[in-house]
Amino acid sequence: MKRRSVCSRCEEHADHKMAGHYWAYRDGADVRSAWAQLVCVGCMGPTMALVEANKKGYDGCFVDGQMAMDEDALHTIWLTLYVPGDEPRTYQMDVCDDCLDAALTETRHNSRLLPDRRGGDGGPPTPTQDPWAAFR
Ligand SMILES: [Zn+2]
Ligand SMILES: [Zn+2]
Repeated sequence: MKRRSVCSRCEEHADHKMAGHYWAYRDGADVRSAWAQLVCVGCMGPTMALVEANKKGYDGCFVDGQMAMDEDALHTIWLTLYVPGDEPRTYQMDVCDDCLDAALTETRHNSRLLPDRRGGDGGPPTPTQDPWAAFR
């Protein structure tokens, strides 16, 4: 049986491989969570905007462009992007207090929670563990 996947954003079945989006966030209570979405090629617009913003380097909130008076006022949501046939790449999405809830809701839409055992640091998630790593 071939399993058909559904895009997290448009909720349509895709006839092509979709891009894996692995998000991670550490909340105010210092609890880190990670979750994953699948996105079809037609819904990559918001992702492209984030990729472009990361290339240029941006200050302030990604969503509304608001400058934060101090860096602590911004919250970082990490994205590790898996484009089929390409190396995974990591981007960061900084958002202000006002935009945090909407950004989390959007990235968590139709996502599945990932186990996150790294706990300690605040970096991006480590999604696919190589089961053969120990033998190399
Ligand atoms: Zn889609
Ligand atoms: Zn904002």
